[in-house]
Amino acid sequence: MDLSFTEEEERFRAGLRSFLVEAVPRGEPPEDLDGEFDYLRDFQRVMHRGGWVGIHWPSAFGGRDATPVQQAIFAEEMARARAPQLVNRVGINNVGPTLIHFGTDEQKRRFLPGILSADEIWCQLYSEPDAGSDLAALRTRAELDGDDYVVTGQKVWTSYATQARWAILLARTDANAKKHRGISYLIVDMQADGIDIRPLRQLTGASEFNEVFLDRVRVPRANRIGVENEGWQIAQVTLAHERGTNYAIKEQVLARIAVEELLEELRAGGLASDPCLRQDAARLYVETEIMRFMNLQMLSRLGKGIVPGAETSLVKQFWSDLSQAIGETSIRALGPHGLLLRGSPHVRTGGKFLQRMLFSRAATIAGGTAEVQRNIIAQRILGLPRS
Ligand SMILES: Cc1cc2nc3c(=O)[nH]c(=O)nc-3n(C[C@H](O)[C@H](O)[C@H](O)COP(=O)(O)OP(=O)(O)OC[C@H]3O[C@@H](n4cnc5c(N)ncnc54)[C@H](O)[C@@H]3O)c2cc1C
Repeated sequence: MDLSFTEEEERFRAGLRSFLVEAVPRGEPPEDLDGEFDYLRDFQRVMHRGGWVGIHWPSAFGGRDATPVQQAIFAEEMARARAPQLVNRVGINNVGPTLIHFGTDEQKRRFLPGILSADEIWCQLYSEPDAGSDLAALRTRAELDGDDYVVTGQKVWTSYATQARWAILLARTDANAKKHRGISYLIVDMQADGIDIRPLRQLTGASEFNEVFLDRVRVPRANRIGVENEGWQIAQVTLAHERGTNYAIKEQVLARIAVEELLEELRAGGLASDPCLRQDAARLYVETEIMRFMNLQMLSRLGKGIVPGAETSLVKQFWSDLSQAIGETSIRALGPHGLLLRGSPHVRTGGKFLQRMLFSRAATIAGGTAEVQRNIIAQRILGLPRS
């Protein structure tokens, strides 16, 4: 495999690098969720004006037809510039590619532009109280009444539900069909009557995710993606795109920035000679490089039109262990300061390391738990029998 870059790729990198010099906001984001959200939305708008959002989408839909190598360069440059995340990530990584594959022309025309511009934020209404790892056990019902589905049920752990204008939702449209059949894939207006959003307070103190109750919510039949009762197959494609692009780009950027900040803190805090911390910091650096190569391999497969399969579980599991190790080592590097909250006069790194460590606990749950990922690796990659 040749990992050197062509002249065109170097031009792509230089264009992005110089754009990011002005585009990346200076200073830390506001501490409250709404303030942070506005800050991130503003950043996505700036990126969009420069043509740097949804670069992996086809140019016919506002993307850049970015090759896998260009996507890898994008991740490297975002990390180098310490850029914030693109806030509409469910829209960009999950909804957009799904609509491009399965949506009607009208759905594409109506929804794709607002995803890129961040004018319309999206959330994902998949998980339910008794349907997480076993998502096909979902019980939310959608019954046809004239030209509308009437949706009733409860969803949980919905990130950004309070900010979202639209949601992708899985609901049961045939109660008599087998578990994985009889599920349909709908686009729901988060401002519709009958939607009740209740924020959940997290370990970090923030309330990014929510419970969402749906009580006879009317969803036009025109907002169904794909064929009725065949939503499960579409959801698999959405999740593959989420795991593929999310871990290959977003999480790589976050991991790289976190390791660089840890190294800076070790140098500045005089702890660079601590033998255990040195060993751990070097190991984390090596593992971030390994993650980069795993991501290059995944992007290369995506670029060949191969929908990622079980190998996304390898990447996901590697990333979640790595992000927790970065969180824990960062707290050790700060010593007693590490446990101080934002606002304390003696806090270091603005409390960022503590937030990072606390949030990293979610890494082995979100997007499929560690146990489920290991089961997939055992069965589908290692050929071990089902437990
Ligand atoms: C930060 C974060 C953001 C999220 N955002 C969203 C979102 O926007 N939209 C959305 O729909 N969902 C979201 N989720 C939900 C997420 O998809 C689920 O939490 C996840 O799928 C696990 O489901 P669960 O929480 O119901 O746990 P369960 O499935 O109930 O699992 C409980 C425990 O049992 C273990 N277990 C389950 N099945 C098996 C098995 N077969 N073999 C071995 N062990 C098993 C699990 O590993 C886990 O330890 C989010 C979660 C987090 C943490």
